[in-house]
Amino acid sequence: MLISIGFESSADKVGVGIVDEDGNILANQRATYKPEIGHGVIPRDAAEHHAEVMPNLLKTALEEASLSAKDIDLICFTQGSGMGPCLRVDAIAARTMAISLNKPIIGVNHQIAHVEIGRLIGKLMDPVVLYVSGGNSQIIAYSHHRYHVFGETLDIPLGNCLDVFGREMKLDASKAPMGRVIEELAETTDEYVPLPYSVKGMDLSFSGILTASIRKVKEEGYSVEVVANSLQETCFAMVTEVAERALAHLKKDELLVTGGVASNNRLKQMLNEMAEDHDARFSGLPPATAIDNGAMIAWTGLQMYRSGYRQQLSDTLVRQHFRPEEVEVTWRND
Ligand code: AMP
Ligand code: MG
Repeated sequence: MLISIGFESSADKVGVGIVDEDGNILANQRATYKPEIGHGVIPRDAAEHHAEVMPNLLKTALEEASLSAKDIDLICFTQGSGMGPCLRVDAIAARTMAISLNKPIIGVNHQIAHVEIGRLIGKLMDPVVLYVSGGNSQIIAYSHHRYHVFGETLDIPLGNCLDVFGREMKLDASKAPMGRVIEELAETTDEYVPLPYSVKGMDLSFSGILTASIRKVKEEGYSVEVVANSLQETCFAMVTEVAERALAHLKKDELLVTGGVASNNRLKQMLNEMAEDHDARFSGLPPATAIDNGAMIAWTGLQMYRSGYRQQLSDTLVRQHFRPEEVEVTWRND
Protein backbone atom coordinates (compact mmCIF):
# COMPACT_ATOMS: atom_id res chain seq x y z
CA MET A 1 0.00 0.00 0.00
CA LEU A 2 1.51 3.32 -1.10
CA ILE A 3 1.76 6.02 1.54
CA SER A 4 1.89 9.64 0.38
CA ILE A 5 2.80 12.80 2.28
CA GLY A 6 1.70 16.27 1.20
CA PHE A 7 3.17 19.65 2.09
CA GLU A 8 0.97 22.74 1.62
CA SER A 9 1.90 26.35 2.40
CA SER A 10 0.59 28.40 -0.52
CA ALA A 11 -0.94 31.22 1.55
CA ASP A 12 -1.53 31.88 5.25
CA LYS A 13 -1.92 28.21 6.24
CA VAL A 14 0.77 25.57 6.44
CA GLY A 15 -0.12 21.89 6.49
CA VAL A 16 1.32 18.39 6.39
CA GLY A 17 -0.98 15.50 5.51
CA ILE A 18 -0.48 11.78 5.07
CA VAL A 19 -2.83 9.51 3.09
CA ASP A 20 -2.79 5.93 1.88
CA GLU A 21 -3.76 4.50 -1.48
CA ASP A 22 -7.31 3.73 -0.35
CA GLY A 23 -7.89 7.39 0.45
CA ASN A 24 -7.63 7.05 4.22
CA ILE A 25 -6.38 10.27 5.78
CA LEU A 26 -3.77 9.12 8.30
CA ALA A 27 -2.72 12.60 9.39
CA ASN A 28 -3.64 16.19 8.59
CA GLN A 29 -1.76 18.77 10.64
CA ARG A 30 -2.10 22.50 10.14
CA ALA A 31 -0.96 25.84 11.53
CA THR A 32 -2.07 29.35 10.59
CA TYR A 33 -0.04 32.53 10.29
CA LYS A 34 -1.82 35.41 11.98
CA PRO A 35 -0.94 38.88 10.75
CA GLU A 36 -0.96 41.77 13.19
CA ILE A 37 -4.47 42.93 14.06
CA GLY A 38 -5.84 45.15 11.30
CA HIS A 39 -3.38 43.92 8.67
CA GLY A 40 -3.58 41.52 5.76
CA VAL A 41 -1.23 38.65 4.97
CA ILE A 42 2.35 39.76 4.31
CA PRO A 43 3.82 36.96 2.15
CA ARG A 44 7.37 37.17 3.55
CA ASP A 45 6.17 37.12 7.16
CA ALA A 46 3.83 34.22 6.42
CA ALA A 47 6.68 32.29 4.78
CA GLU A 48 8.87 32.88 7.80
CA HIS A 49 6.14 31.52 10.06
CA HIS A 50 5.65 28.46 7.83
CA ALA A 51 9.37 27.67 7.75
CA GLU A 52 9.53 27.92 11.51
CA VAL A 53 6.65 25.53 12.23
CA MET A 54 7.14 23.07 9.35
CA PRO A 55 9.62 20.70 11.09
CA ASN A 56 7.32 20.29 14.05
CA LEU A 57 4.23 19.83 11.85
CA LEU A 58 6.03 17.04 10.01
CA LYS A 59 6.97 15.35 13.27
CA THR A 60 3.41 15.63 14.61
CA ALA A 61 1.93 14.35 11.33
CA LEU A 62 4.17 11.26 11.41
CA GLU A 63 3.17 10.68 15.04
CA GLU A 64 -0.51 11.09 14.22
CA ALA A 65 -0.15 8.48 11.47
CA SER A 66 2.03 6.24 13.66
CA LEU A 67 4.62 6.14 10.90
CA SER A 68 8.26 7.01 10.53
CA ALA A 69 9.74 8.92 7.60
CA LYS A 70 11.02 5.73 5.96
CA ASP A 71 7.42 4.44 5.62
CA ILE A 72 6.62 7.26 3.18
CA ASP A 73 6.65 6.21 -0.49
CA LEU A 74 5.80 9.48 -2.22
CA ILE A 75 6.40 13.13 -1.43
CA CYS A 76 3.98 15.77 -2.74
CA PHE A 77 3.87 19.53 -2.42
CA THR A 78 1.83 22.50 -3.61
CA GLN A 79 3.69 23.84 -6.63
CA GLY A 80 1.17 26.65 -7.24
CA SER A 81 -0.79 28.76 -7.48
CA GLY A 82 -0.06 30.84 -4.43
CA MET A 83 2.27 33.40 -2.92
CA GLY A 84 5.86 32.85 -4.05
CA PRO A 85 7.65 33.09 -0.70
CA CYS A 86 5.03 30.84 0.94
CA LEU A 87 5.09 28.23 -1.82
CA ARG A 88 8.86 27.98 -1.56
CA VAL A 89 8.53 26.65 2.00
CA ASP A 90 6.47 23.58 1.04
CA ALA A 91 8.66 23.01 -2.03
CA ILE A 92 11.85 23.09 0.03
CA ALA A 93 10.40 20.76 2.66
CA ALA A 94 9.38 18.29 -0.06
CA ARG A 95 12.68 18.47 -1.94
CA THR A 96 14.65 17.97 1.25
CA MET A 97 12.61 14.93 2.21
CA ALA A 98 12.68 13.47 -1.31
CA ILE A 99 16.44 13.82 -1.52
CA SER A 100 17.18 12.48 1.95
CA LEU A 101 14.83 9.47 1.58
CA ASN A 102 15.52 9.00 -2.12
CA LYS A 103 11.77 8.93 -2.90
CA PRO A 104 9.76 10.34 -5.84
CA ILE A 105 8.43 13.90 -5.68
CA ILE A 106 5.26 15.30 -7.28
CA GLY A 107 4.30 18.99 -7.54
CA VAL A 108 0.53 19.46 -7.27
CA ASN A 109 -1.78 22.19 -8.51
CA HIS A 110 -3.53 23.68 -5.49
CA GLN A 111 -6.97 24.15 -7.06
CA ILE A 112 -7.03 20.62 -8.45
CA ALA A 113 -6.22 19.32 -4.99
CA HIS A 114 -9.28 21.11 -3.59
CA VAL A 115 -11.42 19.37 -6.21
CA GLU A 116 -9.87 15.93 -5.71
CA ILE A 117 -10.19 15.93 -1.92
CA GLY A 118 -13.78 17.06 -2.42
CA ARG A 119 -14.46 14.12 -4.71
CA LEU A 120 -12.92 11.77 -2.15
CA ILE A 121 -14.50 13.09 1.05
CA GLY A 122 -17.80 14.19 -0.51
CA LYS A 123 -18.03 10.87 -2.45
CA LEU A 124 -18.69 12.78 -5.65
CA MET A 125 -18.00 11.60 -9.18
CA ASP A 126 -17.97 14.72 -11.31
CA PRO A 127 -19.01 17.89 -9.49
CA VAL A 128 -19.11 21.52 -10.48
CA VAL A 129 -16.88 23.04 -7.80
CA LEU A 130 -17.26 26.49 -6.30
CA TYR A 131 -13.93 27.25 -4.65
CA VAL A 132 -14.16 30.37 -2.50
CA SER A 133 -11.39 31.25 -0.08
CA GLY A 134 -9.19 34.09 1.08
CA GLY A 135 -7.07 33.84 -2.06
CA ASN A 136 -9.34 32.28 -4.71
CA SER A 137 -12.82 32.50 -6.18
CA GLN A 138 -13.30 30.07 -9.03
CA ILE A 139 -15.92 27.80 -10.55
CA ILE A 140 -14.09 24.69 -11.72
CA ALA A 141 -15.31 21.61 -13.55
CA TYR A 142 -13.88 18.67 -15.44
CA SER A 143 -14.14 18.26 -19.17
CA HIS A 144 -12.00 16.25 -21.61
CA HIS A 145 -9.15 15.38 -19.26
CA ARG A 146 -8.67 18.87 -17.87
CA TYR A 147 -10.06 20.84 -14.98
CA HIS A 148 -11.30 24.08 -16.47
CA VAL A 149 -11.99 27.35 -14.73
CA PHE A 150 -15.45 28.28 -16.02
CA GLY A 151 -15.70 31.48 -14.02
CA GLU A 152 -13.53 33.44 -11.61
CA THR A 153 -13.00 36.76 -9.95
CA LEU A 154 -11.52 39.48 -12.10
CA ASP A 155 -10.15 41.34 -9.10
CA ILE A 156 -10.19 40.35 -5.42
CA PRO A 157 -11.31 36.96 -4.05
CA LEU A 158 -14.60 36.71 -2.13
CA GLY A 159 -12.93 35.84 1.18
CA ASN A 160 -10.59 38.79 0.81
CA CYS A 161 -13.57 41.08 0.16
CA LEU A 162 -15.17 39.93 3.44
CA ASP A 163 -11.87 40.21 5.32
CA VAL A 164 -11.13 43.75 4.15
CA PHE A 165 -14.68 44.89 4.89
CA GLY A 166 -14.33 43.45 8.40
CA ARG A 167 -10.98 45.12 8.96
CA GLU A 168 -12.35 48.47 7.77
CA MET A 169 -15.20 48.03 10.26
CA LYS A 170 -12.60 47.21 12.95
CA LEU A 171 -14.31 43.88 13.69
CA ASP A 172 -12.42 41.53 15.97
CA ALA A 173 -11.28 38.41 14.13
CA SER A 174 -9.02 37.14 16.90
CA LYS A 175 -11.44 34.38 17.98
CA ALA A 176 -13.14 33.45 14.70
CA PRO A 177 -12.30 33.98 11.04
CA MET A 178 -13.46 37.38 9.79
CA GLY A 179 -15.98 35.74 7.45
CA ARG A 180 -17.58 34.05 10.44
CA VAL A 181 -17.70 37.34 12.38
CA ILE A 182 -19.51 38.94 9.43
CA GLU A 183 -21.85 35.95 9.16
CA GLU A 184 -22.84 36.37 12.82
CA LEU A 185 -23.61 40.06 12.29
CA ALA A 186 -25.59 39.26 9.15
CA GLU A 187 -27.67 36.72 11.07
CA THR A 188 -29.01 39.50 13.32
CA THR A 189 -30.97 41.24 10.55
CA ASP A 190 -32.94 40.69 7.33
CA GLU A 191 -32.60 44.32 6.30
CA TYR A 192 -30.98 44.83 2.94
CA VAL A 193 -29.43 47.77 1.16
CA PRO A 194 -28.68 47.37 -2.58
CA LEU A 195 -24.99 47.04 -3.50
CA PRO A 196 -23.43 46.79 -6.98
CA TYR A 197 -24.12 43.30 -8.30
CA SER A 198 -21.22 42.54 -10.60
CA VAL A 199 -21.30 39.43 -12.78
CA LYS A 200 -19.54 39.79 -16.14
CA GLY A 201 -20.27 36.84 -18.39
CA MET A 202 -19.11 33.95 -16.22
CA ASP A 203 -16.71 36.11 -14.22
CA LEU A 204 -17.12 38.05 -11.02
CA SER A 205 -15.93 41.30 -9.50
CA PHE A 206 -15.95 42.07 -5.79
CA SER A 207 -13.92 45.27 -5.49
CA GLY A 208 -16.78 47.67 -6.34
CA ILE A 209 -19.07 46.01 -3.80
CA LEU A 210 -16.36 46.26 -1.18
CA THR A 211 -15.88 50.00 -1.74
CA ALA A 212 -19.64 50.59 -1.78
CA SER A 213 -20.12 48.57 1.43
CA ILE A 214 -17.50 50.55 3.30
CA ARG A 215 -19.07 53.79 2.07
CA LYS A 216 -22.57 52.70 3.17
CA VAL A 217 -21.36 52.49 6.77
CA LYS A 218 -18.78 55.27 6.93
CA GLU A 219 -20.55 57.91 4.85
CA GLU A 220 -24.22 56.98 4.59
CA GLY A 221 -24.87 55.90 8.17
CA TYR A 222 -26.08 52.34 7.61
CA SER A 223 -25.36 49.90 10.42
CA VAL A 224 -22.57 47.37 10.08
CA GLU A 225 -25.14 44.59 10.55
CA VAL A 226 -27.33 45.71 7.63
CA VAL A 227 -24.35 46.15 5.32
CA ALA A 228 -22.82 42.82 6.43
CA ASN A 229 -26.11 41.13 5.57
CA SER A 230 -26.35 42.95 2.23
CA LEU A 231 -22.74 42.17 1.38
CA GLN A 232 -23.33 38.46 1.98
CA GLU A 233 -26.62 38.41 0.07
CA THR A 234 -25.11 40.19 -2.93
CA CYS A 235 -21.80 38.32 -3.16
CA PHE A 236 -23.33 34.91 -2.50
CA ALA A 237 -26.07 35.50 -5.08
CA MET A 238 -23.36 36.33 -7.62
CA VAL A 239 -21.34 33.15 -7.06
CA THR A 240 -24.54 31.11 -6.98
CA GLU A 241 -25.60 32.56 -10.33
CA VAL A 242 -22.32 31.63 -12.03
CA ALA A 243 -22.24 28.17 -10.42
CA GLU A 244 -25.81 27.65 -11.62
CA ARG A 245 -24.93 28.50 -15.18
CA ALA A 246 -21.95 26.13 -15.10
CA LEU A 247 -24.13 23.36 -13.69
CA ALA A 248 -26.84 23.88 -16.31
CA HIS A 249 -24.55 24.23 -19.32
CA LEU A 250 -22.28 21.33 -18.42
CA LYS A 251 -25.30 19.16 -17.51
CA LYS A 252 -23.63 17.92 -14.33
CA ASP A 253 -25.63 16.73 -11.35
CA GLU A 254 -23.29 17.41 -8.43
CA LEU A 255 -22.29 20.71 -6.84
CA LEU A 256 -19.47 21.06 -4.32
CA VAL A 257 -18.52 24.16 -2.37
CA THR A 258 -15.06 24.35 -0.82
CA GLY A 259 -12.51 26.83 0.57
CA GLY A 260 -12.77 28.84 3.79
CA VAL A 261 -15.89 30.77 2.74
CA ALA A 262 -17.65 27.43 2.20
CA SER A 263 -18.28 27.18 5.94
CA ASN A 264 -20.83 29.99 5.63
CA ASN A 265 -24.35 28.72 6.32
CA ARG A 266 -26.15 31.32 4.22
CA LEU A 267 -23.97 30.51 1.21
CA LYS A 268 -24.63 26.79 1.65
CA GLN A 269 -28.36 27.46 1.90
CA MET A 270 -28.40 29.44 -1.36
CA LEU A 271 -26.36 26.83 -3.20
CA ASN A 272 -28.47 24.00 -1.87
CA GLU A 273 -31.69 25.66 -3.06
CA MET A 274 -30.17 26.27 -6.48
CA ALA A 275 -28.94 22.66 -6.73
CA GLU A 276 -32.41 21.36 -5.81
CA ASP A 277 -33.88 23.32 -8.73
CA HIS A 278 -31.55 21.39 -11.02
CA ASP A 279 -32.02 17.99 -9.35
CA ALA A 280 -28.34 18.14 -8.48
CA ARG A 281 -26.74 16.85 -5.29
CA PHE A 282 -25.15 19.56 -3.16
CA SER A 283 -22.17 18.91 -0.86
CA GLY A 284 -19.91 20.82 1.41
CA LEU A 285 -16.87 19.48 3.26
CA PRO A 286 -15.79 19.52 6.90
CA PRO A 287 -13.38 22.44 7.55
CA ALA A 288 -10.37 20.08 7.87
CA THR A 289 -10.60 19.22 4.18
CA ALA A 290 -12.26 22.41 2.85
CA ILE A 291 -9.55 24.73 4.15
CA ASP A 292 -6.02 24.52 2.70
CA ASN A 293 -4.50 21.29 3.98
CA GLY A 294 -1.72 18.81 3.34
CA ALA A 295 -3.95 15.73 2.90
CA MET A 296 -5.47 17.13 -0.29
CA ILE A 297 -1.98 17.55 -1.75
CA ALA A 298 -0.90 14.05 -0.67
CA TRP A 299 -4.06 12.50 -2.16
CA THR A 300 -3.88 14.35 -5.49
CA GLY A 301 -0.16 13.64 -5.90
CA LEU A 302 -0.78 9.97 -5.16
CA GLN A 303 -3.35 9.73 -7.94
CA MET A 304 -1.06 11.55 -10.34
CA TYR A 305 1.78 9.20 -9.46
CA ARG A 306 -0.33 6.07 -9.88
CA SER A 307 -1.45 7.25 -13.31
CA GLY A 308 2.17 7.63 -14.46
CA TYR A 309 3.23 11.17 -13.55
CA ARG A 310 6.93 11.48 -12.74
CA GLN A 311 8.85 14.64 -11.92
CA GLN A 312 12.53 15.54 -11.82
CA LEU A 313 13.86 17.77 -9.05
CA SER A 314 14.66 20.32 -11.74
CA ASP A 315 10.88 20.56 -12.47
CA THR A 316 9.97 21.47 -8.92
CA LEU A 317 10.32 25.25 -9.08
CA VAL A 318 7.22 26.92 -7.63
CA ARG A 319 4.68 28.49 -9.99
CA GLN A 320 2.76 31.41 -8.54
CA HIS A 321 0.28 31.50 -11.43
CA PHE A 322 -0.09 27.74 -12.01
CA ARG A 323 -3.52 27.20 -13.66
CA PRO A 324 -5.49 23.96 -13.29
CA GLU A 325 -5.97 23.77 -17.07
CA GLU A 326 -2.22 23.21 -17.48
CA VAL A 327 -2.40 19.75 -15.94
CA GLU A 328 -3.55 16.80 -18.05
CA VAL A 329 -5.85 14.73 -15.86
CA THR A 330 -4.57 11.20 -16.46
CA TRP A 331 -6.07 9.67 -13.31
CA ARG A 332 -9.72 9.92 -14.35
CA ASN A 333 -11.10 7.76 -17.10
CA ASP A 334 -14.40 9.55 -17.71
P1 AMP B 1 -8.96 29.86 3.18
O1 AMP B 1 -8.30 30.89 2.30
O2 AMP B 1 -9.54 28.69 2.43
O3 AMP B 1 -8.12 29.47 4.34
O4 AMP B 1 -10.22 30.59 3.82
C1 AMP B 1 -10.11 31.76 4.58
C2 AMP B 1 -11.25 32.68 4.21
O5 AMP B 1 -12.50 32.10 4.59
C3 AMP B 1 -11.16 34.00 4.90
O6 AMP B 1 -11.43 35.01 3.95
C4 AMP B 1 -12.27 33.92 5.95
O7 AMP B 1 -12.80 35.17 6.33
C5 AMP B 1 -13.29 33.08 5.23
N1 AMP B 1 -14.26 32.46 6.10
C6 AMP B 1 -14.04 31.63 7.14
N2 AMP B 1 -15.21 31.30 7.75
C7 AMP B 1 -16.19 31.93 7.07
C8 AMP B 1 -17.61 32.00 7.19
N3 AMP B 1 -18.28 31.36 8.15
N4 AMP B 1 -18.28 32.77 6.30
C9 AMP B 1 -17.63 33.42 5.31
N5 AMP B 1 -16.30 33.40 5.15
C10 AMP B 1 -15.59 32.66 6.02
MG1 MG C 1 -6.86 26.90 -1.03
